[in-house]
Amino acid sequence: MATNRTFTMIKPDAVENGNIGAILEKIQTAGFKIVAMKYTKLSKEDAEAFYAVHNERPFFGELVTFMTRGPIVAAILEKENAVEDFRTLIGATNPEDAAEGTIRKTFANSIQENAVHGSDSDENAAIEGAFHFSGREIF
Ligand code: UDP
Repeated sequence: MATNRTFTMIKPDAVENGNIGAILEKIQTAGFKIVAMKYTKLSKEDAEAFYAVHNERPFFGELVTFMTRGPIVAAILEKENAVEDFRTLIGATNPEDAAEGTIRKTFANSIQENAVHGSDSDENAAIEGAFHFSGREIF
């Protein structure tokens, strides 16, 4: 059953580029309610665990270096059909392939420095949200 929640991170590139506010505005304008949010920084261990599914991929080491080089904004978002609708809002992994108006098309630097994360399933949304937030931090 769909939980109507997804998990996102505004990645270090978008924080460095001063795009936190503009990205949150797009998220809220699209109808997502922020039910948990924090400004934080991933340790190497955090990033390796978060992206463990990619640990055999050639870009894994660079991805961990990128995701740990500066702070991120982590958030849990709520909306009907949240996972799928948020993936549509952020656009394709590679900003060159992302649709006009999507967050990645607008703000991403590259396929790696692609501004935002969005969970790819309800199951992963729950796991990723629990990775960053305790029950008392979710409203
Ligand atoms: N990534 C990368 N190089 C690639 C593909 C992906 O560095 O060739 C990074 C990128 O930051 C991406 C993350 O790894 O967002 C996770 O990849 P995935 O295929 O799960 O894409 P997503 O679900 O984030 O669109």
